[in-house]
Amino acid sequence: MSKYDELLHKIIEDVSSNSKFNKSTHCIFDLDSTLFNVTSRTEKILSELIDDKYFINNFPSEIKKLRKPLVNHDDWGIKEALIRSGIECPKFYEKAKKYWAKRFFSNEYLKFDIPYAGASEFVNELYSLGAHITYLTGRDQIRMLVGTVESLKQWNFPVDLKHTSLALKPKSSDEDTEFKTNYINKLINQYESLYFFENEPIIIHQVERLIPKIKIIFMDSVHSGRADPLDHWPKINMRFSRN
Ligand SMILES: [Mg+2]
Repeated sequence: MSKYDELLHKIIEDVSSNSKFNKSTHCIFDLDSTLFNVTSRTEKILSELIDDKYFINNFPSEIKKLRKPLVNHDDWGIKEALIRSGIECPKFYEKAKKYWAKRFFSNEYLKFDIPYAGASEFVNELYSLGAHITYLTGRDQIRMLVGTVESLKQWNFPVDLKHTSLALKPKSSDEDTEFKTNYINKLINQYESLYFFENEPIIIHQVERLIPKIKIIFMDSVHSGRADPLDHWPKINMRFSRN
């Protein structure tokens, strides 16, 4: 059994034992690059960009250079895709980034995300063991709430008003780390055991520093590179399925 399998089994056992002894458990999951692989969202946007009249007319040579598959799972945004295709035009990057961001951070494109293997089953297992589930995301309410609910339902993640919560940032300009830390801080005394699944090291550093009681699970998928993960963080590797 791999160390990732062992960790996932240990979490299930812990939550199961809490439930037996009437200890309350809260499992907090980030969405993008933690429960959901967002590669196909970006792939879809770039494939539409290739057929977009504005780009065809204004950047014909750059459009021709864009190679499929456009996106790798460890890309952060679209920069790597353009570099791999040998595109160096800053104006194209600027326009393509705007085109991508407008769609990436919108309700309409969330249906193209695909959960990591076993993610829905794992969250459902914790839910059926009595853990409260919170989806805590840096997505913002105005542009992404409706699509987020639809996407959770599309993939059969547990969604009910009593035993699950969904927290999106009120405004896109809110800072992710501060939003998440403040949210978790309010929960800390309400539950005996708290887990936090997250892929972004800069957020984990802050949560770990301010809320040492929380059990961190680092999703080793892709991150912004603004901070490095620490060796002592228990980690999983792009899947929740286990042997
Ligand atoms: Mg994330």
